[in-house]
Amino acid sequence: MITTEELYNHYLKNPIISTDTRNISEGCIFFALKGDNFNANEFAAQAIEKGAAFVVIDEKKHAKNQKCLLVADVLSALQDLARHHRKQLNIPVIGLTGSNGKTTSKELVNAVLAERYKTFATFGNLNNHIGVPLSILSIKSDVEIAVIEMGANHQKEIELLCTITQPTHGIITNVGMAHLDGFGGFEGVKKGKAELYTYLKGNNGYTFINRDNPYLMEMSDAAGLSKLIFYGTENGNTIKGSLKSSDPFIEVEWTNHEISSSVKTNLTGSYNFENILSAICIGDFFDMNPKEINSGLTNYEPKNNRSQLTKTESNTVICDFYNANPSSMSAALNNITVLTSDKKIAILGDMFELGPESEIQHQLIVEQASKSELNEIIFIGKYFYAFKDKCKGLFFETPNEAAAYLKEKPIKNNLVLLKGSRGMKLESLLEYL
Ligand code: ATP
Ligand code: MG
Repeated sequence: MITTEELYNHYLKNPIISTDTRNISEGCIFFALKGDNFNANEFAAQAIEKGAAFVVIDEKKHAKNQKCLLVADVLSALQDLARHHRKQLNIPVIGLTGSNGKTTSKELVNAVLAERYKTFATFGNLNNHIGVPLSILSIKSDVEIAVIEMGANHQKEIELLCTITQPTHGIITNVGMAHLDGFGGFEGVKKGKAELYTYLKGNNGYTFINRDNPYLMEMSDAAGLSKLIFYGTENGNTIKGSLKSSDPFIEVEWTNHEISSSVKTNLTGSYNFENILSAICIGDFFDMNPKEINSGLTNYEPKNNRSQLTKTESNTVICDFYNANPSSMSAALNNITVLTSDKKIAILGDMFELGPESEIQHQLIVEQASKSELNEIIFIGKYFYAFKDKCKGLFFETPNEAAAYLKEKPIKNNLVLLKGSRGMKLESLLEYL
């Protein structure tokens, strides 16, 4: 069996990692992971044929030649390798988690820091037990600061990811009604996310915290954090900000108590105010001046259907269909109600992973939407459909049925909010808007 140190020597010569045979780069190290429906040990030979320098496997029968590196467990070997690499990097690493806005905040923090530093940030949404080690292993030796997104849907996951990321600085964006099933309700979400605070406390790290958020304050007190940097809307915070405009794009006024300034962004959705403020706070902490911070924020263009305002041929669409949970759905509904437009429509898809709270959480959204002053609300999916006869709005069981309706009765000159869980694939409706 190969040790982590030996594997690390191979990695230093072949620093590209692959876990997918469809995506093999010449000279990479292929980690043969197992999933519910696959065992990549079986593709080890294929990976070598396609150019992998080494394959890391955990089934002896597939160890055909010297390019096959046998370990006890491939996933653990990947995580151990990342832990080892992280230890060699003597740089600040900002660990970022939260129920909503992780990727957006990570992108904003990176956009700000990159104005001054050579940064690394998690690619896309690679935030789980495989994505985090892959992210860490992508950090090159010239990087000065890294921002690592850590996601979780059950207890002890953030704790594990912290042992890999080894954050020197950390931030929980917020805690909300997300992954309630895996976490065991909202108290479980708080407990699971607070694992980052526990790590920072134990390792003398700094924590950036939104003082306007009572849950985060409570969690910080419980963890006994002391190296705190606050941001929020009140006096007494290191960074104090206010929302100057959110119609349709967010503009923020802020001060670090020496200089006051104002920044226009390309993000829509007032919930992004706190994401923007966190990026300002982190930039300020790392000695950046307001000009650099604002430049990073102004030049950032939202992508991947998170809070993206798109003009189609017939409508203006808030493309927010990357994902949804009760907190972000409620925030998105609040947002569309304050935007200026003569006609507004919300098209909402089911929210997943809510366990026993699914029914009540869908009901709350149906009630909130029905009370809001929207010209039309279209609900899609079997969870929303259960409220068909109880509330106003159009209800469809599937996106296909909604598509057929939209084809027959096209929507024109509206501001449309399109939001639902990833599994609802609401992007399929965009062509009818
Ligand atoms: P994931 O769990 O999929 O990684 P995430 O936490 O990375 O999600 P983002 O991808 O940044 O979150 O944003 C997803 C959606 O969450 C946004 O499109 C928006 O609707 C909502 N959102 C973003 N920031 C906030 C916030 N601060 N509060 C509430 N909702 C938010
Ligand atoms: Mg994310």
